[in-house]
Amino acid sequence: MTKLEYIWIDGTEDVPQLRSKTKVLNDWDGSISKCPIWSFDGSSTNQAPGENSDCVLKPIRLYHNPLEKNSTLVMCEVWNTDDTPHETNIRWKLYELINGGDNNNEPWFGFEQEYTLFKKGDNGLVPVGWPKDGSQPAPQGDYYCGRNKGEHIARKHMDACMEAEIGITGINSEVMLGQWEYQIFGKDPYKVCDDMWIARWLLEKICLRKHRVVSLDPKPIEGDWNGAGCHTNFSTKDMRKKDGDKVIHSAMKKLEYLHEDHIEVYGSGNEKRLTGQHETCSMREFRWGVSDRGASVRVPWQVAKDGKGYLEDRRPSANCDPYLVAWRLIKTICGEDDE
Ligand code: ADP
Ligand code: MN
Ligand code: MN
Ligand code: MN
Repeated sequence: MTKLEYIWIDGTEDVPQLRSKTKVLNDWDGSISKCPIWSFDGSSTNQAPGENSDCVLKPIRLYHNPLEKNSTLVMCEVWNTDDTPHETNIRWKLYELINGGDNNNEPWFGFEQEYTLFKKGDNGLVPVGWPKDGSQPAPQGDYYCGRNKGEHIARKHMDACMEAEIGITGINSEVMLGQWEYQIFGKDPYKVCDDMWIARWLLEKICLRKHRVVSLDPKPIEGDWNGAGCHTNFSTKDMRKKDGDKVIHSAMKKLEYLHEDHIEVYGSGNEKRLTGQHETCSMREFRWGVSDRGASVRVPWQVAKDGKGYLEDRRPSANCDPYLVAWRLIKTICGEDDE
């Protein structure tokens, strides 16, 4: 017998959340084509009205479940019963964009997912490592890649991602106490975004088992503390070739022109994070620069040196939808130039 964990993204306003439920099968052969289409009550996930509540789950990718025996994770898309994609199915939106256009750009993505771990304090949750009484710890200084808290969770999560064959490329502790990051890279835009969602699911489950709570809030603690982002590293075939820096520079012009359209889909509550402080550029302006961590979009120094490579969009917030960020970047940078 095998457990199939069907995972999908719900319709929660502002910040869609992960949902999952378990199906036990007797004679499953391990293939995705033998994962049955399933359904759920969309009226409980903000995806359907009560009187017509069924939403359909279509399996789209399998992952080994590193957290449980005899279990496979089944990443799903949400569809309507009339076999049209559900309006919350952003993966399909990405598919339509890539399939509808010139898809010769070979876009690669590297997401840096930042997150904050919380534990129980005297009056509600406090970040790990923080005093339980809600008072402030020592200011930011040596937490980044240094002496932070919650490392056992970050490492357990990295191992789980590796076992699930998620394209994780590393982890580091962050500038704020209780904050961490993992990076996920992929040459296939669907795979890298699916990986991002499954990695978030794994992190939630690992935290649950360790009596911790993970938050993707872009500004979990107000004041002189860094926020949490999801820097998105992006390149096309032409950016990676000789003289790719010229292609990167022309991408910057497009990104500048469409700055507001990008901000609109880069996550909720991001205005609290993109203030111009704490290694961000204010949301109200667009700036790019080499090695500049106060820019909206950064060109890493090796890229400037080599004259080719990739760019780092520093604007997306930790709670962004990677499908939507990927969609927006491909649309802006690889789309027809209609200026
Ligand atoms: P930072 O210095 O901003 O903290 P990280 O090392 O955390 O950078 O993340 C950089 C990410 O960029 C990695 O996930 C890496 O895989 C990704 N990356 C490297 N080269 C490319 C490329 N050509 N296209 C897209 N992403 C890339
Ligand atoms: Mn990083
Ligand atoms: Mn970071
Ligand atoms: Mn970064």
